Amino acid sequence: MEYSQRDFDLAAKNLIKTGILLNSKGWLPATSGNFSQRLDSHCCAVTVSGKHKGYLTTNDIMVVDLKGNAISQGKPSAETLLHTSLYNLDDNIGTILHTHSLNGTLLTRLIKDSAWHIEGYELQKAFRGISSHESKIKIPIFENNQNIPVLAEEVINYLNKAFKQGIYTWAYLIRGHGIYTWGFDLKDALRHLEAIEYLIECELELMRIKG
Ligand SMILES: [Zn+2]
Repeated sequence: MEYSQRDFDLAAKNLIKTGILLNSKGWLPATSGNFSQRLDSHCCAVTVSGKHKGYLTTNDIMVVDLKGNAISQGKPSAETLLHTSLYNLDDNIGTILHTHSLNGTLLTRLIKDSAWHIEGYELQKAFRGISSHESKIKIPIFENNQNIPVLAEEVINYLNKAFKQGIYTWAYLIRGHGIYTWGFDLKDALRHLEAIEYLIECELELMRIKG
């Protein structure tokens, strides 16, 4: 199994830039969050464990196979299986972003349900395949779990079931923890993340105003 060095260098550059951008928004406190980019059908580049994602260097990006095993030097993020299981689920997924923003964390403490329903916002159209504010988008909320293989299985089972019903899910939330979102490429994933953050802010502000 050999990935191309050129693809790795490009992915590392993208992930470092992404860390700087997302950290400037305050979405990656205290070494939290992780990102990955697919390299080919067998492996992806992923951020290593324990590093601040706003100050990454090439040494902080490593390669894992799609079972989550390291195939370059480094200790992959504890949540690597949440990335690799998504790449296994859909060959089109190219980039996955995970953040621990304040708003993303707060919303899941306020919504007790197992999903957040979005409707009526123009910015919903930022999600690939959504063309109207009238669409109903369901973002699942999973209970936090330190057992990542169990959580990964729960997520994949949900996404598979939704997909069979014709629903493509672009993101999920983990209660009291953060946001996972993805795209066919980095541009897609960043657009989805910015949209989710904006929509969460709208929902929280509405809750504040309503009291
Ligand atoms: Zn996390």
